[in-house]
Amino acid sequence: MNPTPEHYDAIVIGVGGVGSAATYRLAARGLDVLGLERFDVPHTRGSSHGSTRIVRLTQPEDPSYVPLARAAFEHWRDLEDETGRDLLTITGSVHAAEPDSAFLDSARASLDAHGIDHEELSGTEVRRGPSLH
Ligand SMILES: Cc1cc2nc3c(=O)[nH]c(=O)nc-3n(C[C@H](O)[C@H](O)[C@H](O)COP(=O)(O)OP(=O)(O)OC[C@H]3O[C@@H](n4cnc5c(N)ncnc54)[C@H](O)[C@@H]3O)c2cc1C
Repeated sequence: MNPTPEHYDAIVIGVGGVGSAATYRLAARGLDVLGLERFDVPHTRGSSHGSTRIVRLTQPEDPSYVPLARAAFEHWRDLEDETGRDLLTITGSVHAAEPDSAFLDSARASLDAHGIDHEELSGTEVRRGPSLH
């Protein structure tokens, strides 16, 4: 057996959160993958370090991220099945913006385009707390 093959189908440089997911998915498709990481896998010096991250469906940056976020949720559930661990907690979220701001317009357009349930509240309503209906 050659311990250092000269050919790989894919080489992933940086095995943090994104690189490890890419490595895992490529290997799951049967590709011969090499992951190169300058520290250990995992380690505490990358931007993926820590115990929690947010993945959100509200995507004012670009509505095309919404299907990607939905696919990510499915993949997290797959990973839960494979590992037997609770990894994804679905919650609502509150996003604050100035009325008539570009952020709000863009977030609204993205939510509407993808049929995502949401509610618009004024500052007064937010300060009053959750409505009971
Ligand atoms: C404090 C904090 C909070 C965040 N919160 C969120 C959040 O809630 N939701 C969200 O979506 N995003 C969040 N982000 C951003 C998110 O963490 C990053 O977008 C994501 O984790 C990046 O993953 P990554 O794999 O690209 O980077 P990293 O996890 O940093 O992985 C990059 C890897 O590449 C390795 N590397 C770099 N150079 C080389 C080299 N030359 N050779 C070999 N290996 C190399 C590094 O060691 C590292 O392991 C947050 C970021 C920070 C810092």
